[in-house]
Amino acid sequence: MNEKLKPATLCVQAGWTPKKGEPRVLPIYQSTTFKYETSDQMARLFDLEESGYFYTRLQNPTNDAVAAKIAALEGGVAAMLTSSGQAANFYAVLNLCSAGDHFVSAATVYGGTFNLFAVTMAKMGIEVTFIDQDASEEEIAAAFRPNTKLLFGETITNPGVEVLDIEKFARIAHNHGVPLIVDNTFATPINCRPFEWGADIVTHSTTKYMDGHATAVGGAIVDSGNFDWEAHADKFPGLTQPDPSYHGLTYSTAFGKGAYITKATVQLMRDLGSIQAPQNAFLLNLGLETLDLRMERHCKNAQQVAEYLRSNDQVAWVHYPGLQGDKYYELGQKYLPKGSCGVIAFGLKGGREESIRFMDALKLCAIVTHVADARTSVLHPASHTHRQLTDEQLAAAGVAPDLIRLSVGIEDAGDIIADIAQALAAR
Ligand SMILES: *Cc1c(COP(=O)(O)O)cnc(C)c1O
Repeated sequence: MNEKLKPATLCVQAGWTPKKGEPRVLPIYQSTTFKYETSDQMARLFDLEESGYFYTRLQNPTNDAVAAKIAALEGGVAAMLTSSGQAANFYAVLNLCSAGDHFVSAATVYGGTFNLFAVTMAKMGIEVTFIDQDASEEEIAAAFRPNTKLLFGETITNPGVEVLDIEKFARIAHNHGVPLIVDNTFATPINCRPFEWGADIVTHSTTKYMDGHATAVGGAIVDSGNFDWEAHADKFPGLTQPDPSYHGLTYSTAFGKGAYITKATVQLMRDLGSIQAPQNAFLLNLGLETLDLRMERHCKNAQQVAEYLRSNDQVAWVHYPGLQGDKYYELGQKYLPKGSCGVIAFGLKGGREESIRFMDALKLCAIVTHVADARTSVLHPASHTHRQLTDEQLAAAGVAPDLIRLSVGIEDAGDIIADIAQALAAR
């Protein structure tokens, strides 16, 4: 596919290019396995001497087409689909870290990612240091150690909608000889392509805007191909030294720019098996076809809703990077000139109890755990996703006790605002 094509075209056309007589629409290869004519043909695949399909836990043509579309949208060299966004972030880190290693992450990342890093990966002997993403380069650099293997952040944080200074993060990571991994879930490659600002690896929860219809949980990892593993060979032996599970093959020499995704596929996916079902990849592909259109509408609607909320005197505060005067307005203008996303964080005067009464009075906007799909939805993290935390712990996680996460959908903006207005009046 021509790399100069615009995102709207890639959304529709990239990944699947049928030849004569083949289905116009990406088919679901609903097959766990693939047939060969000789035993030797199959053996060569197992030795990675030839590429080809043999078992869907490693690769499937439906998944590969959708991964190729996401790689094209991000401007990367290769991508891998995973069963969820959690699996994507786990594999993205585990592909570089072993027991005894350390990495640095922004503290205000998604709660599920925070737990994965702070609790589950710690049990595996991989240690994380959380830092304030708005801190100075010197302060963030102070968290690095000789065994630090990567820096991690989210383009737009969930649920705080804080915008990451990607260039700053890339500079800090590269000064320490490690890659920057950016979770680009909320921005999507329609609104930001982190590789253009120096990120090396991008992850996604495709469950959100990419699917867009709340039908399938999924994730993706994309590699820019830009990080030079061999220049920092001592830090990344898993990529630059022979893998005994493939007769001593070395990923960086055998696969060059494809080393990182190849290792994640043939080693982590082979051994841990969190694949995306081809059915789900098909649904994800349908969502991707309209991603460009939908993001435009999400942002347009969210901007109107955010302006309405800010003008309403029952609202204590509103965070949305598109609002002039927002703490992240300037970073938003730089990294997200087309708009940020549909998610707004706000609080009502009267605090936590008022937030709950307001949410219960909504009619069109639905209370769901999900975020970033076509339907406007709302969540109160302090009562739901972050329910176990005290107010002090909430503050440390960057979640105000009165924070309402409003995920503005693609309905008519006037109808969404009318629902919010009636709920504010009804309390
Ligand atoms: C939802 C989310 C995840 C986790 O993704 P799942 O698909 O739910 O596993 C990771 N990062 C961000 C920013 C998210 O919003």
